[in-house]
Amino acid sequence: MATAVKNEIEQLDAVIVGAGAAGLYMLHRLRGLGLKTTVIEAGDGVGGTWYWNRYPGARCDVTSVEYSFSFDKQLEQEWNWSEMMAPQPEIERYMNHVADRFDLRRDIRFSTRVTAVNWDDRATAWTVATDRGDRIEARYCIMATGCLSSPLKPDIKGIDSFTGVSVQTSMWPREGIELEGKRVALIGTGSSGVQSTPEIAKVASHLTVFQRTPTYTWPSMNRPLTAEDIAKVKANYEKMRQTQRSSRVGIAGSFGGALLEPPTAKLLDLPEEERRQKLDEHGFAVTRMFADVATDMEANIVAREMYAEMVRRVVTDPATAAALTPSDYPIGCKRAVVDQDYFVTFNRPNVKLVDLRNEPFEEVTEKGIRTSTGEYEFDVIVYATGFDAMTGALLNMNIKGREGRPLAEKWAAGPRNYLGLMAEGFPNLFTITGPGSPSVLSNMLVSIEQHVDWITECLSYLGANGKDVIEPTLEAEDSWVEHVNTVADGTMYTAPSCNSWYLGANVPGKTRQFMPYVGGVGVYRQKCDEVVAKGYDGFVLDTAKEAVAV
Ligand code: FAD
Ligand code: NAP
Repeated sequence: MATAVKNEIEQLDAVIVGAGAAGLYMLHRLRGLGLKTTVIEAGDGVGGTWYWNRYPGARCDVTSVEYSFSFDKQLEQEWNWSEMMAPQPEIERYMNHVADRFDLRRDIRFSTRVTAVNWDDRATAWTVATDRGDRIEARYCIMATGCLSSPLKPDIKGIDSFTGVSVQTSMWPREGIELEGKRVALIGTGSSGVQSTPEIAKVASHLTVFQRTPTYTWPSMNRPLTAEDIAKVKANYEKMRQTQRSSRVGIAGSFGGALLEPPTAKLLDLPEEERRQKLDEHGFAVTRMFADVATDMEANIVAREMYAEMVRRVVTDPATAAALTPSDYPIGCKRAVVDQDYFVTFNRPNVKLVDLRNEPFEEVTEKGIRTSTGEYEFDVIVYATGFDAMTGALLNMNIKGREGRPLAEKWAAGPRNYLGLMAEGFPNLFTITGPGSPSVLSNMLVSIEQHVDWITECLSYLGANGKDVIEPTLEAEDSWVEHVNTVADGTMYTAPSCNSWYLGANVPGKTRQFMPYVGGVGVYRQKCDEVVAKGYDGFVLDTAKEAVAV
């Protein structure tokens, strides 16, 4: 389709890309500053993650009362969550409610994708181009494009030749996919695959799960919320928010839903008999209850053995249990997966596990999938194959900073920025939950709000001090990147046997670099606040160039 190019360049104060939680709240705050702002969103609705990921079983893996906005007290009081961990449709409804309640839609351009973002030194502004021919000049550009919004489709031979239905979990159509009575293939056993497996198994005539790497997953504590639960939360929101903001991962532990602080007891200190008792008492959860599992490989290996024992207790077929048990990478290297009845689903007669390590893919065929042992026929193939995380959406936009330098060039050896918020050479361009911030290692709503508030305060400060431009220094950026790497070193996240999307290891050709900040939400907030208290330490604040040039 030819793109209509509109001749005139629109003049605005700010462009926000993305209408997920981050874009919605950012728009609300920039309106508060009186800035003329537009949001550009590729989807035709709000909610980001919760708009795109409609697969069966999609739900929050942190407590929903905590995975919610804190910026408006009335909003907190008027919204009722139905379950501890709400399902996707409910979170999408919540995002729509927020958009309507704060009248945000009138400033959002839906079904529009940003295709180029260029810094113009003379105009001291960004020019943003879209696939619908928009050209917008704005002093500030705020990327609310999400850490997990650039879907990955695997490079399997013949992938387009399948004549049945092919669907990605992260691009699940709103009208749904008919799975009832169908022969379904599911590729991928990360969070999306693990969440959808039990739900697909319930309705499909047969489900075949293709697994390349087995997953550590822990049973969810989900349950419906009672009127008493809700009343208690509503009476305690203020305290809960304070705890979240100073905590390690942005979670206050409502309903005992998470470990507030890291555990202190050591697994290696327990005699064998006590370990077994703990296993009987706590099941899978025992493998996350000890400090040394996260820091000491010997303890980690013991925890892995306990984990394997739990899989054997649940999965009746020994060969399937063995195939489902991770063995060659540590607990804690990847994002913890939370499930509802994952392992037990493999006891159903209509579910089969294919271990791709023994039986690799050869090709996708017209009728299904051929592995090294033969062809399987399907009606539907579901790809739960993940994302080009943290940098994918940013680099897809063709961002060019000072002197036309592409962000892709600056980040060729991995992302570099200051505080995860701004990169040297890219003035006035902010990344909400960018690489180098706690982002995906936290309850994201807490981290999103913190970044949006920081950016709002920053723009307000610039205005109040007659400044138009903010940009980090190279020194500040270098020392932040070094700090991010230092705190990650020696953790399970960066163990040599770990291949996670945090490291970019899931994307062929992507530089291996640990991207999020491990230091913790509370510590990070303090660091950001200190930078502000010292007059934006590490940043250069300037006036618009044209004032000097004329
Ligand atoms: P997103 O919600 O990803 O929104 C970004 C938006 O930007 C998207 O709508 C996208 O279409 C748009 N966009 C991107 N590029 C462009 C472009 N070039 N032009 C126009 N628009 C563009 N986090 C948690 O803390 N707890 C959870 O339980 C949890 N569950 C998750 C479940 C799933 C299935 C996934 C994928 C992620 C989950 N996350 C969870 C992480 C989740 O992404 C964040 O919690 C949060 O929703 C991110 O919000 P966001 O607004 O930053 O980004
Ligand atoms: P993911 O964790 O990256 O998992 C992708 C899966 O696809 C992996 O099992 C991977 O195997 C497999 N895969 C990829 N390419 C393949 C190929 N060519 N052949 C065979 N298998 C292949 O992605 P995700 O499950 O979408 O989750 C991503 C993140 O989103 C999560 O970590 C989490 O942060 C978030 N999320 C959260 C929830 C929630 O519970 N609320 C739900 C979904 C997602 P390998 O491991 O071998 O690469």
